Amino acid sequence: SSDGLIVSFGEMLIDFVPTVSGVSLAEAPGFLKAPGGAPANVAIAVARIGGKAAFIGKLGDDEFGHMLAGILKENGVSADGIPFDKGARTALAFVTLRADGEREFMFYRNPSADMMLTPDELNLELIRSAKVFHYGSISLIVEPCRSAHLKAMEVAKDAGALLSYDPNLRLPLWPSADEARKQIMSIWDKADVIKVSDVELEFLTGNNNIDDASAMSLWHDNLKLLLVTLGENGCRYYTKNFHGSVDAYNVKAVDTTGAGDSFVGALLCKIVSDHDIIQDEHRLKEVLKFACACGAITTTKKGAIPALPTEKEVLAFLEG
Ligand code: ADP
Repeated sequence: SSDGLIVSFGEMLIDFVPTVSGVSLAEAPGFLKAPGGAPANVAIAVARIGGKAAFIGKLGDDEFGHMLAGILKENGVSADGIPFDKGARTALAFVTLRADGEREFMFYRNPSADMMLTPDELNLELIRSAKVFHYGSISLIVEPCRSAHLKAMEVAKDAGALLSYDPNLRLPLWPSADEARKQIMSIWDKADVIKVSDVELEFLTGNNNIDDASAMSLWHDNLKLLLVTLGENGCRYYTKNFHGSVDAYNVKAVDTTGAGDSFVGALLCKIVSDHDIIQDEHRLKEVLKFACACGAITTTKKGAIPALPTEKEVLAFLEG
């Protein structure tokens, strides 16, 4: 559906998900190994609906790292920007699904390979060929990954890419809430497109009203589009000239993991070859309806990557 390359920067890891919901890790009778990591999910979401995607991030030179690179390639995502670390191991996350379907994370990162990506290891040619550069690493605070993250953003921006940011707030990974806020805001004004969840909006503004005033308080001069995702309440969108909301589709959610990434991937895939869609409310709303459909479908299946829809599935969903 689009020709422009979307490069997604960050981490790919394996989620160990208990085979039953609503129990603690210690009580889990077993675990499923689910590939994940928000930026990798976004790359696969793009490829599934027919877009061109590459993932950039470091993996361990171990069984898990090679398994993950294989999953990207099977899904048609370029792995040309992935170095393998000889020392640090592939990141792992232990996820619990609460009875209400929301998830909680514990990470093995001691350190993990994703944190060890250096600026010198960046595939600059790949980054320069991106029409959209999406970022949002959970290792933003950690060197050398932090420097690599900042350099990749700069190179992409200089080459004319649209920059898309999802903070992917995982509070337990940060030394303090204040530090998390500070780091997230330090790269805030580089982005052209930002997607936050309702939880992130509340966290970043310190305001528990999820309303327009609160969202607009996060606006910055160079921003083109701010999105607030609201789960079963759909999403809100804000641009310089207009704002509004798009309803969610009514589905029976079994696991919300990956819904936001599916939403972002769909949005980026639709705007990559024509960034001006953002300025046109009618066209933007059509794109956001498509993105909400992708998010909704993703909640109807377990896991993130296995649940990301193909273009065919989305079209069938929208027709049905
Ligand atoms: P995030 O991961 O950013 O918190 P959300 O969970 O809000 O993302 O999901 C992103 C989008 O997916 C939502 O805007 C919505 O359109 C769709 N979605 C998420 N959860 C549901 C749900 N329970 N029912 C229908 N659509 C949903």
